[in-house]
Amino acid sequence: MFAPRCGLESLKPYSVEEIQWPVRLDANENPTDLPPAIKTKVMEKLAVLPFNRYPEMSAISLKSTLAAGFGLKAANVLVGNGSSEILEALCHAFGGAGRSIVYPSPSFSMYGIYAKLADSQSVPVALNADYTLDADKLLAAAKEAAAVVILLCNPNNPTGMVMPLEQIEYIVAGTNSLVVVDEAYHEFYGKTAVNLLRKYQNVAIARTFSKAYSLAAARVGYLLTNEEIARTIGKVLLPYSVNALTLATAEIVYGLRQEFAGGLAVNSRERERMAAVLSALDGVTVYPSQTNFLLVKSENIAAMVAKLSARGIGIRDFSTAPGLTNCIRISVGTPEENKAVLEAVTA
Ligand code: PMP
Repeated sequence: MFAPRCGLESLKPYSVEEIQWPVRLDANENPTDLPPAIKTKVMEKLAVLPFNRYPEMSAISLKSTLAAGFGLKAANVLVGNGSSEILEALCHAFGGAGRSIVYPSPSFSMYGIYAKLADSQSVPVALNADYTLDADKLLAAAKEAAAVVILLCNPNNPTGMVMPLEQIEYIVAGTNSLVVVDEAYHEFYGKTAVNLLRKYQNVAIARTFSKAYSLAAARVGYLLTNEEIARTIGKVLLPYSVNALTLATAEIVYGLRQEFAGGLAVNSRERERMAAVLSALDGVTVYPSQTNFLLVKSENIAAMVAKLSARGIGIRDFSTAPGLTNCIRISVGTPEENKAVLEAVTA
């Protein structure tokens, strides 16, 4: 048989259990579908969309809408099939053989895969034991590895914790590497590093519609950066990669994003309610989260996982992952789903 490309044999593909749990709290999705008024608008738009035509090649309508939301130009924006596609493209554009991509660990597990897909050296830098980041250690590792890209996730998945914006600026100012701030969970937190784009040339901000905006099914995300970086990454993104249905949907959702405020408030209330109950359990630590999920550590995590799965509740089990021993990640669900979680673990 044909041998795969050099380096591919050792690459473990990203995979998650595909069990259809009755209660799905394993993927940090929004537990509720689009607000009905928005969904109706989307359906009306899709009903008249010509399915026989390719989408706009440059996705200029969505890019312009997003750019206006940030006071930027369309040339500062890239859209992709989920932020995943853009992050991967970014690694392809700036990585490559002999180049390094540095990121704190534990963080989003795809970062190492993106780096390797781009034939780059992946350099995880361990977070402190309490999952805070030592910025000087990260900068030293980036310097040592002559990193082309530093990937920061803020708030961080799977810890849920945030880096102070001053720390992000300290990193950006202290390196020539391109610093990407993955703000997939931004809407749950509220703070952003977007303003750094006006001050520094080595910054990019990634966002997604998959979490707060209930659009995981549509696969759409975007990147904000300077025009030159956007042009370079644009070279490796395939034309028409985001389909017309998704582009149209995302534009409507972005225009009506204030409709999600109620859901975000419920999320933060529910998250704190869950954190209070879970952290009161014997031997359990809940990390401070500014997201729609909680990282939970327990001396007896296997028992907790068993109690949850017995009630049909799917969570993300990290208990054997490096740096995450005895940890699971529970997405914040609807109030009823969260009640089921709390009943299961306190039973
Ligand atoms: N970044 C982070 C931190 C994530 O958690 C995820 C999704 N789990 C992504 C990026 C990718 O999101 P998407 O491709 O759906 O936009």
